[in-house]
Amino acid sequence: MRKAIGVDLGGSHVTAGVVGEDGKITSQHERDIEDRSVATVVSLIEVVVREALGKIKNGDLAGIGLGSPGNVDLADGSVRYSPNFGWENVPLGALLRERFGTVPVHVANDARCATLGEHAFGVGRGTADFVLLTLGTGIGGGIVSGGKLLIGNKAGAGEFGHQQIRPTDGFICGCGKIGCFEAQASGTGLIRHAFAVAPSFPRSTLLTKNPEKFGSKLIRKAAQAGDGHGLAAWKNFTADLALGLANVIACVNPETIALGGGVSSAGDFMLAAVRSRVDELTTMVPKGTTKIVIAELGNDAGQVGAATMAFRGGLA
Ligand SMILES: [Zn+2]
Repeated sequence: MRKAIGVDLGGSHVTAGVVGEDGKITSQHERDIEDRSVATVVSLIEVVVREALGKIKNGDLAGIGLGSPGNVDLADGSVRYSPNFGWENVPLGALLRERFGTVPVHVANDARCATLGEHAFGVGRGTADFVLLTLGTGIGGGIVSGGKLLIGNKAGAGEFGHQQIRPTDGFICGCGKIGCFEAQASGTGLIRHAFAVAPSFPRSTLLTKNPEKFGSKLIRKAAQAGDGHGLAAWKNFTADLALGLANVIACVNPETIALGGGVSSAGDFMLAAVRSRVDELTTMVPKGTTKIVIAELGNDAGQVGAATMAFRGGLA
């Protein structure tokens, strides 16, 4: 079977998966990223890709696909802008082509790759109109419309994370605006909600456990266990999540919205809180007709999607 290497470049680690045309990952190679300089990141990508290449028989390789944070120029694979990495106009595609010679290399935004993966091999299989939202440190997204991944003029279609939903009373976003969807409803947003409601719970020990270190899981687990402080944060978090989802429905009207990323591990506990509120906020399309579900491929979606891009010879 032909294979492609799908690379997922995240803020804290880079993973290369060997992926078959059936979307199955047969081996994974990962390194932590401690320094986000271009030289270090490119050399770590080279290390994991070379390990992955060692698992593929000569002649079976279709190419290398890589999902990177930020806005990517699909023509040459350069990263125009990535606030997470502090990168501007980094020629990532060219730097990788220098290292891998004649092997085709494709670079695109990481969340668009994950959307491609979930649509081809995950929970979006068989849908014509599909949206993936990954709720992690930020909110990434992607849109499939009429069976095709939407790219946009400068490859920015699906940047739902930076729609402002609380412009007057929200949290400050990494992009500089106030109350972006990602500032309110990502994993980081959940932690911020827990801090915001803390004065109402003076006896709560929730935040003494250092959620900045342990992440949003601490708050989510507390809410699921019925802790008052955790539940208050969770209620505000899911209200903001529902607001953003209703906006997505108004703009894209997908058949299915899949929620991925760490916070989506809450599963039905999250869906139950969100679905009825989304219905209340949905006005111009029939209520309840957009399925809101949990994504299937988890952390593998980015690798599977990046490999799918390599098999197809591009994102579109
Ligand atoms: Zn923003």
